[in-house]
Amino acid sequence: MRPFVIGIDIGGTNTKLGLINSGGKVLLRTTLPTRSFIRNKTELINAIAAAVQAILKKKKLARKEIAGIGIGLPGLINMKKGTVNFLVNIPRWENVPLKRIMEQKLRLPVFIDNDVNVMTLGEWKFGAGRGIRNLICITLGTGVGGGLVFNNEIYRGGAFTAGEIGHIPLNEQGFSCNCGGYGCLERSVGSAHLLRKAKSVFKNREISLEKITEKARQGDKKAIEFWKEAGRHLGNGLAGVVNLLNPDCLVIGGGIAGAHQVLFKAIEETIRNRAMKIPASMVKIKKAELGQDAGIIGAYVLVQHALSSK
Ligand SMILES: [Zn+2]
Repeated sequence: MRPFVIGIDIGGTNTKLGLINSGGKVLLRTTLPTRSFIRNKTELINAIAAAVQAILKKKKLARKEIAGIGIGLPGLINMKKGTVNFLVNIPRWENVPLKRIMEQKLRLPVFIDNDVNVMTLGEWKFGAGRGIRNLICITLGTGVGGGLVFNNEIYRGGAFTAGEIGHIPLNEQGFSCNCGGYGCLERSVGSAHLLRKAKSVFKNREISLEKITEKARQGDKKAIEFWKEAGRHLGNGLAGVVNLLNPDCLVIGGGIAGAHQVLFKAIEETIRNRAMKIPASMVKIKKAELGQDAGIIGAYVLVQHALSSK
């Protein structure tokens, strides 16, 4: 394989780009504000293409040194066809043949996938999931996502939508969720919902989740209980996942995963107590290691896998 890959992680707020070498090391990073281009998908596509050209120019790289471009996107992606079916927080992206458009613009092979699958590939090959055969990666943020690796292969499901851990219904009667269902796990532990709850628990409209973590670190009982409760909700959902799939390891990442340690502890305790004894005692529970780079490093793995399976 050619020595370099350009990894792109398109998020609702920012789009990250990185130049990755064959050791999975990030040699250069740039960021685009997705929000500035959110009204018009062509503008976003053009801005990304220009940012790729700028990376090549800055590093004085020829096209023949680039194996390909990997792109992770937050939504439903048909990675076989290279089509974006739908994006969750970026409007007007429906049935966009992104692979074809980008390949025409950049004259390089382009591969696309759901962002959580891409992050999972990164953690599995270069992060906390290295060497693990059966792995589930969970991202905690506005959305609660999951990526599944079984028998050393990523599992995407029949229409490439597998892994929607956030939309496991926990409640028969619960609040409606933006997936169209109600009572979903995400509806109690997605960051937007946690923030709404925080405003009422702390009777403060200005409170942030970071502030609650800070209060918890200072020993504030209410703040500690807030994160414990979120951890218990997550642990309940994940106990079901552990019973169903008997993974060797859960890797937990995303913005919320960095909250106070009581959150992580409560997740782990709940899984150990509530899942069945054998799968609960064997599953390792780890924090993700790649942080902000997971998407671009995972994009390297996406390109590598796609090219080696051709
Ligand atoms: Zn849902």
